[in-house]
Amino acid sequence: LPKEFITARPILQTIEKAGYEAYFVGGSVRDTILNDHIHDVDIATSAYPSEVKDLFKKTINTGIKHGTVMILDHQQKYEVTTFRTESGYQDFRRPDKVTFVRSLEEDLKRRDFTVNALALKEDGTIVDLFSGLQDLEKHILRAVGIPDERFHEDALRMMRAVRFASKLDFVIEDKTEAAIKHNAPLLKKIAVERILVEFEKMMLGQAVIQGVKYFLDTGLYNYCPQFEGKQAPLSKLLELNPNNRLTSESQVWLLICHTLELSPEQSRSFLRAWKTSNELINEVESGIRLFDAIAKNTVSEKLLFRTGRNVLEDTINVLFAINSKIDTQMLLSRYEHLPIKSTHELDVNGHDLLTAGIITPGPQMGIILNYLLEGVLVGQFKNNQSELLLEARKYTSKNP
Ligand code: ATP
Ligand code: MG
Repeated sequence: LPKEFITARPILQTIEKAGYEAYFVGGSVRDTILNDHIHDVDIATSAYPSEVKDLFKKTINTGIKHGTVMILDHQQKYEVTTFRTESGYQDFRRPDKVTFVRSLEEDLKRRDFTVNALALKEDGTIVDLFSGLQDLEKHILRAVGIPDERFHEDALRMMRAVRFASKLDFVIEDKTEAAIKHNAPLLKKIAVERILVEFEKMMLGQAVIQGVKYFLDTGLYNYCPQFEGKQAPLSKLLELNPNNRLTSESQVWLLICHTLELSPEQSRSFLRAWKTSNELINEVESGIRLFDAIAKNTVSEKLLFRTGRNVLEDTINVLFAINSKIDTQMLLSRYEHLPIKSTHELDVNGHDLLTAGIITPGPQMGIILNYLLEGVLVGQFKNNQSELLLEARKYTSKNP
C-alpha cells in the first residue's frame, strides 16, 4: 500500500473498533491499483457524521450536510464521508437530497464509473461489486448501472467520462458511449464552472487526443460555451504532438484560443464565457498577442518584455504541442538577452525624474519612463541612471 494509505490506516482502525465500517474509496483506490501516483485519500464509513466526530479529538465540519467530516491527525487531514444515497436529481444536476445509509453497496452504487466504485479495507481487502477490477485491467470506463439513467441523474458524468478517458488512457465502453451521444444536450444544464474543471483535466491528460476524439464524436462539445458547431477547428486538436503534454491551465486555453483563431479581444470574451479567472484571461491574451506577432514575423524586444517569461514558456510549450516549426530556441534566447526583464530593473524611476527636476508630477512621467524603457530594451540606451537622466533631459527639451 502507498504511504498515504499507511498513514491513514489508524483512522480506519479507530472507526472499525467502534463497530462501524470504513473503507478507502474513489480515485485513490483506482490509481493505486493502476500504480499511478495518488493525490488525495477519500474515506467512506457507515458511521454518521456525529458518530465520526465522537471518535476523534480534532474534527472540522467541512461538508457536514453532505456527510463529510475532516479529521486532523498528526498534522494530516483526512476527509471521512458517511455512506450515502442521492435522490431527486431534478434538472439533471447534483442531487437535491442526500440520505445517509449504513450500507456500503448503496454508496458504491451512486458512483459514476465501475473503476471509481471500488472500496479498499484497511487490511487490504478490495470490495468490487461492479467488476471494476476487470474494467481496470482492460482499461475500460463503464457507467455503474444503466448509463442512460446515470447521465440523466447528473449530466456532468458525461464530461467526467471523456476526462478519465484522457487522464487514464481508457476506452469508453460502447453502451456508455452511446448513452453519452444520446444525452449530450443535457450538458447544457450543468454550471460552466463544473464543465470547465473536467474540460481542463481532459486537456491535461496523458491521452488527450483520445479524450478530444470522444469529446467530438459524442457531440459533447456542442453544449460547451462557444464550441457549438466548432467541430472543424477543434478537430485540429487531433493532430497534437502525442509526446508533448500541456502542463498548465493557461496552456490549455492558449492552445484552444489559438486553434479557434481568436484575436486577443475575442479570446477575452471567449474565456469570460468559460468563466476562467481574470489572471488566466490576461495570460492567454498576452500569449495570443505573441502568437500573432510570430505569425506576422513582428516579434519585438518590447513585446517579449511585455509577454514575460511565464507566458513565453507557456507559448513555447503550446508551439511544441502543435508541432510548430518556429525557432523557439531563438525566441527564448532573445528573451534571455533582454537587458532588463521587469520595469523595476530600469535604473531610473518616477521619483528620480522628479528629484532631478526633469519633470513635474503629471502624465508626462509615464511617457518619459516608457520612452526610456523602450530605448533600453532595443539597446539604444544603457541601463544606467546618469545616462538615462541625460536622455530624459534631451527628450523633455525636444518635447516640452
Ligand atoms: P481524481 O484523481 O481526478 O481526483 P477521482 O476519481 O478521485 O479522480 P473525484 O472528482 O475526486 O474523482 O471524485 C471522487 C469519487 O467520487 C469518484 O471516484 C467517484 O466515485 C465519486 N464521484 C465524483 N463525482 C461524481 C459524480 N458526478 N457522479 C458520481 N460519482 C462521483
Ligand atoms: Mg479525487
